[in-house]
Amino acid sequence: MASKYTVTLIPGDGTGPELVEAARLVLEATGLAFEWDVQPAGLDVLEKEGTPLPERVLRSIRQNRVALKGPITTPVGSGFRSVNVALRQELDLYANLRPAKSYPGVRSRYQGIDLVVVRENTEDLYAGIEHWVIPGEAAESIKIITRRASERIVRFAFEYARENRRRMVTAVHKANIMKLTDGLFLEVARQVATEYPDIEFNDRIVDNMSMQLVQRPEEYDVLVMPNLYGDILSDLASGLVGGLGVAPGANIGDGIAVFEPVHGSAPKYAGQGKVNPTATILSGMLMLRWLGEEAAAAAVEAAVAEVIAAGECVTYDLKERRDDPTAVSTMEMASEIAKRVRERMRTAVA
Ligand code: NAD
Repeated sequence: MASKYTVTLIPGDGTGPELVEAARLVLEATGLAFEWDVQPAGLDVLEKEGTPLPERVLRSIRQNRVALKGPITTPVGSGFRSVNVALRQELDLYANLRPAKSYPGVRSRYQGIDLVVVRENTEDLYAGIEHWVIPGEAAESIKIITRRASERIVRFAFEYARENRRRMVTAVHKANIMKLTDGLFLEVARQVATEYPDIEFNDRIVDNMSMQLVQRPEEYDVLVMPNLYGDILSDLASGLVGGLGVAPGANIGDGIAVFEPVHGSAPKYAGQGKVNPTATILSGMLMLRWLGEEAAAAAVEAAVAEVIAAGECVTYDLKERRDDPTAVSTMEMASEIAKRVRERMRTAVA
C-alpha cells in the first residue's frame, strides 16, 4: 500500500475553489492516497471569522507540513495584510520557486524556454515595512537584506540546481546602486557559489537581466534574487512561456511547503468554470516532486503537455481565438488530463 499524504487544501477565493478542485482531480488520478484537510481562508472567511487567515489554517499546515492553495484576493489599499505574504512569513517559507517552461501548443513568442526563478520570500522591500515621513507628502519603505536570508536562498538555488541537473545559477541584483543591501546579497551569493564548483555561477544587474531575458532567455537557467526583483521577473518569465495561466509556483521552507499558481484570483471569472487549470495542476505536480513522488509528477507533467499540444480539450485562453466556441471548461480540461494520468500510471505499473 502506497503511503498516504495528508495535505492542507486552501481553496482560496475568486476562481481559486474551481482551480483547486481541478488540481485535486488530477492529483487523485495518480492513484496516490491523499487525505485533504480543507481549510478555507481569504475574503469570505474575513466576513465570517474576522480574519482572512485564521490560526486554524496555520496550525493545519504546521501539522501536515504540506499545502495546496488556490489564489486569494488582496484588495488594494485595504486594511488587511496579504494572506499570501502572511503565510510565507508565518511559516518561514523562505524560497519561492517559479519554473517557467515552454509547453508546445501554448502560444508564445518564444519556444524551448526552461527557466527557474528562485525568489527570496521573507524580506526586502516586499516585506512592506513603510511609514509616512511627512503625512500625505513623503513616504519611506525599508529594504532589509540579511546575510542569513541571502545565504539560505542562494544555497537553496544551488541545491535545486544540483538535484535537478541544472547547469548554471545566476544571481540577480542592483549592487551597483544599492551597495549595502544588494551588495551584501551579491557578496553572499559569490561565497556560496564557491561550495558548488560543479555548477556554473554568474551575476546580472536586474535591469540588464530584464533586457537579456527578453532577448536571449535560452542562455539562462536558474535565477536567484531578492524578493521584489523576483516578484517582477517571475511574471516576466511567465510571459515568455505563454502567460500566467500556465505558471506554477511553490513556497518552500525547511521541511514545509505551500504550492500555489503564480496567478491571482482572477475575480471577474469567478464561478464561471472557464479559467485555465494548468498553473494549479502544475503546482500540484511540484508538490508531488517535493513529496518524492517522481513517477506521479512525471505522469502529471506529461499528461498536461499532451493535452495542451493536442489543443482540443483546452480552455479559451489556450485557443487561437479567445471566443473559440470549442474551448472547454476548467473541469473538462482537468478531466482529460486526469484520464491521461490514469493511463500513464497504469502503463507504468503494468
Ligand atoms: P490575476 O492573476 O488574478 O489576473 C491577471 C490576468 O490574468 C487577468 O486578465 C486574468 O483573467 C488572467 N488570468 C489569471 N489566471 C488565469 C487563469 N488561470 N486562466 C486564464 N486567465 C487567467 O491578477 P490580478 O487581477 O492582478 O489579481 C487579482 C487578485 O489576486 C488581487 O486581489 C491580487 O492581490 C490577488 N493575487 C493573489 C495571489 C496569490 O494568491 N498568491 C497572487 C497574485 C495576485
